[in-house]
Amino acid sequence: MTAVMVRHSTYEHETLRPIVFEMMEAMGGKDIRGQGRVLIKPNLLVPATPDQAILTHPAIVRSAAEYVLDRGARPLIADSPAMGSFETLLRKSGIREALRGLDVECRPFEHSVMVDIGSPFGAIAIAEEAVQADAIINLAKLKTHSQMLLTLTVKNLFGCIVGYRKPEWHLRTGVDRQMFARLLVQIARTVKPAFNILDGIMALEGQGPGRGGSPKRLGVLLAGNDPFAVDWTVCRMIGLDADQLPILKAAREMEGLSPHPEIDGPLPEVRGLRLPRMTSLVYGPKFLQGLIRRQLLQRPLCDEQLCQMCGECWTICPAKAIAPGEKPLHFDYDRCIRCYCCLEVCPLGAIRSSESLTGRVVRQAAAFLFPAGGVR
Ligand code: SF4
Ligand code: SF4
Repeated sequence: MTAVMVRHSTYEHETLRPIVFEMMEAMGGKDIRGQGRVLIKPNLLVPATPDQAILTHPAIVRSAAEYVLDRGARPLIADSPAMGSFETLLRKSGIREALRGLDVECRPFEHSVMVDIGSPFGAIAIAEEAVQADAIINLAKLKTHSQMLLTLTVKNLFGCIVGYRKPEWHLRTGVDRQMFARLLVQIARTVKPAFNILDGIMALEGQGPGRGGSPKRLGVLLAGNDPFAVDWTVCRMIGLDADQLPILKAAREMEGLSPHPEIDGPLPEVRGLRLPRMTSLVYGPKFLQGLIRRQLLQRPLCDEQLCQMCGECWTICPAKAIAPGEKPLHFDYDRCIRCYCCLEVCPLGAIRSSESLTGRVVRQAAAFLFPAGGVR
């Protein structure tokens, strides 16, 4: 199917199941054969309840698992959460309960194999379950993302990088947002999910992708064989120029990709979805960039009232930019690469990204005075 299917739905099993089955059939689900190992890869970022709209809803996970079982194949539900135990996540998310009575294996990704994803990254470690599966069903969540604007079907596949290697990649691509986007494009091209379903029934707006975001009912499910086409359709739905989404911009620059899929179903016109402010991570003349980075660039900030010093943020920080145990939380903005992994994992939503008024004024003036200084 080159088209992207759009269907309106709720999480009610009787409504949702036939829609997921219809989508899977349209995407060629009949090719899933008995005894095949099918990886179902939801968004299982952190332990969260369904009403927080951070994770792929358990009802969608169940319907996808039912489809695979219906085809006589073996479903495996797996992901690599940023924090917490996998079992706790399954329980809190409602997935354990939703799967009750189904013969489905669930486990976190643990082992990787080296796969060449192409220049400039070369061979990188990807979860072996993703590499060895006979087919992959990519079950993503429609969410905002403080670093990459939105996390949709392509970005969901970054979860196939196991555990601590994820923040490592943030560090290696540093403040170059487009390089990180390029990495995500190449991972998606390598993992090649045959089926992509995006949960936009309850989306997340504001400062996602973790608890800093706010749930927003959109009531839609999108599906397609090509994750780039699904993500492009979301841009069209929310009235966003595809080039503003770093992943689609990188795909266009690398491959000339500009998907304009046929859309099957009524695409709602969603306006006013609150997106995170995306500012340049590097700007101004070279000799001022260090100062700008320390003092003026958009940065993570902690709400002291909410913070309970749990340590999740400084544990995940790839740049070691958060001083462990220091209250109030201290960020070293010189080291910070603005990946917002800290914001993703904070269990209390205490971290947000923020740009000061001075920073905004200086950034706008720099863009005017030093256009060659580069905006990334
Ligand atoms: S900001 Fe959040 S993650 Fe960091 S210590 Fe405080 S509560 Fe924990
Ligand atoms: S402080 Fe937060 S945004 Fe900065 S590098 Fe660490 S995890 Fe990333």
